[in-house]
Amino acid sequence: MSGSILEDALEQIRCCAEQSGVSKEVIDNLMQPESTLTTSLQVRMGDGSTRYFTGYRCHYNNKLGPTKGGIRFHPDVSRDEIQALALWMTIKCAVLDIPFGGAKGGVRVDPKKLSPMELERLARTYIRSMADFIGPKTDIPAPDVYTNARIMGWMADEYEAIHRLKAPGVITGKPVSLGGSLGREDATGRGAYLCTRALANRQDLEPEKTTVAVQGFGSAGAVVARLLFQAGFKVVAISDSKGGIYCQGGFDVESIYQEKQRSRKLQAVYCDQSVCEQVEHDKITNEELLELEVDILIPAALEGVITEENAGRVRAGHIVEVANGPITSKADGILRERDCIIVPDVLANAGGVTVSYFEWAQNRQGYRWQETTVRDRLNDRMQNAFEQVWDKAAELDCSLRNAAYVLALQRIGQALEAHGTQE
Ligand code: GLU
Repeated sequence: MSGSILEDALEQIRCCAEQSGVSKEVIDNLMQPESTLTTSLQVRMGDGSTRYFTGYRCHYNNKLGPTKGGIRFHPDVSRDEIQALALWMTIKCAVLDIPFGGAKGGVRVDPKKLSPMELERLARTYIRSMADFIGPKTDIPAPDVYTNARIMGWMADEYEAIHRLKAPGVITGKPVSLGGSLGREDATGRGAYLCTRALANRQDLEPEKTTVAVQGFGSAGAVVARLLFQAGFKVVAISDSKGGIYCQGGFDVESIYQEKQRSRKLQAVYCDQSVCEQVEHDKITNEELLELEVDILIPAALEGVITEENAGRVRAGHIVEVANGPITSKADGILRERDCIIVPDVLANAGGVTVSYFEWAQNRQGYRWQETTVRDRLNDRMQNAFEQVWDKAAELDCSLRNAAYVLALQRIGQALEAHGTQE
């Protein structure tokens, strides 16, 4: 990961400073994280050897509440990237008007190369090294790229063992049996779907005539693709980390999802009760998927996939950013020049942290909500946030990204002022 991702994120803040009307104090307050802990994680491997992994946790800003953000396990994790992601979490929580600040954590590791036992040891070691840096009232982790409910369960268990208490609110995205919320697993994808639907409404796009390409078929990408398919959208391209498939007439995403669950492979299939047949399709690369002529492009994998190098070849009329930071700031400028409408990550993928907030609230209440309650409240929050960002963009005649940042800066600014300064 290049060293410029944090600089990119900071530039975004600076460029909205004037439009937002907040004081220099607010911008200065956001120019650096409050603290970042870097630790060396010593893990005993299955063959008896010892390996060392680098772990990070960044508390970016806590003016709106305890800091919140996921932990990713990925070979490209760096301090710079974690800090940028923590800044985006700060903005994201503010856009959704959730009483959390922003944080992020990560371990530089390829989790696909670890056995389940090694993965569990790594997760527990991470929490041992961070046990005093996180807490239900200070900093609350959650899943992110290549981490999941199972890993959160191990982490919550380790935290409770260290502190000798029950503290379900320390981590969200846990298994339901450990206090996880119903509806958390698919929340990011569902939130993105709600944003895409709201965008289609605003742009008078009829689902049946609207083509969609989704990059990434993981926990967020697969959910958004399936929900869009169920709502009648024409999902013409899908990809996973190994490559993609394209069919002009649209795919039966549900069949592809079921097949992927079974075989672990992304295959263009149509499955009826008993038979599963191959559907005619083209094989495409992840790069080609981004350049397809579709109405809506949904990058739902990793950051930095649309850069100044390929932005000129992106032909989609609308982009919904489900991954964090899939478009670099230079690419954003190029896309904006040709009036591509972009629903920014800090809004489009905020469904996950929104239901994390519901999970934390349930843990603190000691009262479990029904799944319909979670969904209805997610619906309301996403809908409201989308409309607020849309209206702000119209009011200021700016992009949805700038509008989202302006809203966030104003909310953080109000909190900063309300806190007062210690003289
Ligand atoms: N990792 C997710 C994100 O980037 C969720 C964070 C959370 O639930 O705290 O938004």
